Amino acid sequence: MPIFDKKHDYPGKLIIVEGIDGSGKSTQVALLKKWLDSQGYSVFFTEWNSSELVKETTKEGKKKNLLTPTTFSLLHATDFTDRLNYQIIPPLKAGMIVLADRYAYTAFARDVVRGVSPMWVRNLYSFAVKPDISFYFDVPIDTACERILSSRAEIKFHEAGMDLGLSPDIKTSFKIFQSRILEEYKKMADEFSLTTVDATLEIHEQQEIVRDVVKEVFKGYSKRRTIYAKRPKVFWRRFSIS
Ligand code: ADP
Repeated sequence: MPIFDKKHDYPGKLIIVEGIDGSGKSTQVALLKKWLDSQGYSVFFTEWNSSELVKETTKEGKKKNLLTPTTFSLLHATDFTDRLNYQIIPPLKAGMIVLADRYAYTAFARDVVRGVSPMWVRNLYSFAVKPDISFYFDVPIDTACERILSSRAEIKFHEAGMDLGLSPDIKTSFKIFQSRILEEYKKMADEFSLTTVDATLEIHEQQEIVRDVVKEVFKGYSKRRTIYAKRPKVFWRRFSIS
């Protein structure tokens, strides 16, 4: 495989979370961020499909159902490139921790299920930085569905893969689509040596596992925020002369 075969040289650390919708990855990355913040680390968070550059185009294309699997894939790759250049690499160069909710693996899973060639999409992301830790939250499809349905009023059209015409019923379509994505993740766990977490465990149990992995990888890394206990002296003096 031509990608992700070499560690990056930046002083920062890149941690990413992956898994199907409802696997609980956003919950875990949010808890990880709070913990890292509390430990004094400088942390930057970024999430999939959030770049201002392509937001409107993607929204418009989705709304009118204009996107083919290839244009869908290219738009996500544009979003990723923009965030990599402006949100991921600069904090890594500054020695910060970058947390990413979804990474290139999301494209490898979803785009392939939509019919794009696995090799083509992997090559498309060949410029991506290899994460220091790639967590994969592994959950059975029924558990993920239960969580999504109990936490939300509705499932989104594309999240259910309705554009693929799998079923006229959105819940059935969601289940078929997410099951196929799950199969891709399972293959990728070996292919890219993802750190698999049993996502059926309690939230706090998973968080303990996540923190243990992070502690191990962070041995020797100490880029903490500078915390000023007192107001800088020079500032104090200027205002205390009477
Ligand atoms: P994702 O980002 O993978 O779609 P979320 O973190 O948004 O998943 O979680 C989806 C729903 O499942 C939320 O309501 C969340 O509170 C709940 N949830 C997350 N982890 C667990 C867990 N281990 N057990 C039970 N419910 C969970």
